[in-house]
Amino acid sequence: MLVSRKIHPQDTIIDVGGVKIGGDEIIIMAGPCSVENFEQLHETAESVKNSGAKILRGGAFKPRTSPYDFQGLGKEGLKLLREVADEFNLKVVTEIVDKDDLELVEKYADILQVGSRSMQNFQLLKALGKSSKPVLLKRGLSATISEWLNAAEYILAGGNSQVIFCERGIRTFETYTRNTLDLSAVAAIKELSHLPIIVDPSHGTGRRKMIAPMSKAAIASGADGLIIEVHPHPEVALSDGVQSITRDDFKNLMTDLVSVANAIGKKI
Ligand code: PEP
Ligand code: MN
Repeated sequence: MLVSRKIHPQDTIIDVGGVKIGGDEIIIMAGPCSVENFEQLHETAESVKNSGAKILRGGAFKPRTSPYDFQGLGKEGLKLLREVADEFNLKVVTEIVDKDDLELVEKYADILQVGSRSMQNFQLLKALGKSSKPVLLKRGLSATISEWLNAAEYILAGGNSQVIFCERGIRTFETYTRNTLDLSAVAAIKELSHLPIIVDPSHGTGRRKMIAPMSKAAIASGADGLIIEVHPHPEVALSDGVQSITRDDFKNLMTDLVSVANAIGKKI
């Protein structure tokens, strides 16, 4: 398999316009679950940039469990992401849900996110294999490591070798947390593949208070970065407010993460 470390022993480093993922620097992606309006995105971006984030996250096409929930701003959201990220010299990661949107999302984003619900959308994976942009491949809700590696293989087999894995928790019998964050997946992917892996403690736990401890643990376990939901007013967020942290919480977390990164010979 092209994703395998057996045929490619050295780590792959993915260069997102100068931001390198998979090397000795931990890369932090942060921003709201959904892009809601200019002010919300602008306030978040300014703050996370000042705290050390390199990449702005935000959903414009939202795959929601209920059809009656906020579905995202679509193209308008993509434009806001690009405009605000450029103002603060940040890169953009955002989800693509439909292969027919590829040209549109590629135009505005630096990294194309495949959401958990789309990990085995093989038509989408094949389309992304033809893209020149890096892909953030989230682990499926109930996907095994082998199924996840095979999903990445679809993209590499199509010709795009820029894949970043993202562990975001899996479904288990536990209901206290939204998902069970599987940090052993970081060690497994590092052993089996040369591609980088980041961790999403927000969807992994679904609980604001767990973001800091799980972020520290993720870095200690060898993850190449984190993707964290941050909202200026989580209590009124249109999606995932209960797992979103405030700008101040994020700032404090970033300070704590520096010592964890240094302890394992990495920097942030
Ligand atoms: C998201 O990043 O907002 C998201 C929908 O994540 P996931 O696909 O992991 O549920
Ligand atoms: Mn979310």
